[in-house]
Amino acid sequence: MDIATSAINKGKSAAFAWQQTYTTQAAQLAQLDNELLAERANDIRDVGMRVLRILTGVEATEQKYPQNTILLAEDLTPSDMANLDRERVVGFCTLAGGTTSHVAILARSMGIPAIAGTEPRVLDLANGTPVILDGTKGTLRLNAPTEEIERTQSLIAKRKAKQAADLQTAFGPAVTQDGHQVEIVANIGSLKDAEEAVALGTEGVGLLRTEFIFMERSKAPTEDEQTGIYRSIAEVLGPDKPMIVRTIDVGGDKPLPYLAMAHEENPFLGERGIRLGFDQPELQRTQLRAILRASTAGKLRVMFPMIGRMEELRMAKAMLEEERQKLNLPPVEVGIMIEVPSAAVMAEQLAKEVDFFSVGTNDLTQYTLAMDRGHPKLAPFVDGLHPAVLRLIDQAVKGAQRSGKWVGVCGGIGSDPQAIPILIGLGVKELSVSVSMIPAIKAQVRSLTLDHCQILASQALDLETAAAVRDLVPLPE
Ligand code: PEP
Ligand code: MG
Repeated sequence: MDIATSAINKGKSAAFAWQQTYTTQAAQLAQLDNELLAERANDIRDVGMRVLRILTGVEATEQKYPQNTILLAEDLTPSDMANLDRERVVGFCTLAGGTTSHVAILARSMGIPAIAGTEPRVLDLANGTPVILDGTKGTLRLNAPTEEIERTQSLIAKRKAKQAADLQTAFGPAVTQDGHQVEIVANIGSLKDAEEAVALGTEGVGLLRTEFIFMERSKAPTEDEQTGIYRSIAEVLGPDKPMIVRTIDVGGDKPLPYLAMAHEENPFLGERGIRLGFDQPELQRTQLRAILRASTAGKLRVMFPMIGRMEELRMAKAMLEEERQKLNLPPVEVGIMIEVPSAAVMAEQLAKEVDFFSVGTNDLTQYTLAMDRGHPKLAPFVDGLHPAVLRLIDQAVKGAQRSGKWVGVCGGIGSDPQAIPILIGLGVKELSVSVSMIPAIKAQVRSLTLDHCQILASQALDLETAAAVRDLVPLPE
């Protein structure tokens, strides 16, 4: 701001001064070694461009894309994603980001195939070049022969027909052929997601990422505002469908611009999730009060993110209990994310003090394999089907079972058709999945038997690599 003001004082126009300032800042950020900060350059350009449009009075013209467009971009911001023309854009491909970055999570919930971490040369392709994007394999095929394009088009038509058929049965339970029911619930970040999930047959919400509600504002929502939002989501779900509200999980790759946080060398290992809640207790307590006040509108459960130690669980529960007593409201069920390896290892002890676990495989994988979940080059290896991650999930389920508690999975592999039989076989009772996947996952569960899932799970635990686990479970047709 100071740089722009000084340029204006020297006689430059506001628009010119602003453009110079934000492009220089973005270029400086983009050169930093720290990948996370370098990625913020894109956010600065995004905001910079929006301010510039206001200064110059130019309306944001909505890009007109032809049908079946695959967007190739250096990076996309969550706000680009929100404005995508979903009728015409059928996929996208970015140089930045990884499979569990938050833009990728948004893409998955919209049901748009996307790949991240692509080679920069794709940006040299001319507009209109035919390409085939396979979101499952993470490939972008150039110069495909006509027959291959036709084969892909007919495959897409077949998939669409399957989606329509799955939707017909989306409102029934997901029961395996041998009578084992798995709860299929949704990962959501807003009221709109909740409405879409209900329309696709969800049985509840297994993860409300409340930080998304904080991230789309310029200051923290008040206790009353939060109560209103949680309450309206609970009302969309109705009295019978449970909703797990995860307390705010900022830090790591989800900074909150208006929250003062000290610079950290390793934000993913810093004051993230519940740790921030202890550092800024008023933020945490305000949210807990809002959740408790909204809990009378439905079947709400509270879940704490990033628990790695028993002391953290006890402190978080104590805060909840203190606020509950002040409000004089009935208790709510309490669970924790299992996403820090120490929590999976200590599951037996932690399970005695909670009602449920939900495994966050995105973070559990990144922390187990010591690979940043948003790293473009490491993306192919950050696979939650790695046997090391599966062994931790197995340990968490066994630990929970010893005190009769249930375990769900809300990380990305809960929506992965190759992971689903294994997770069920490991004893996972609830899959919290990307909204767009609900009908397909219910259909898949109905095609399985628990017996076979258990055999697959025990074989997978003995394998040596993620690739070997994937070979064990071929992709369903
Ligand atoms: C996870 O880590 O798997 C998870 C579900 O939480 P988030 O992706 O929001 O970190
Ligand atoms: Mg997580």
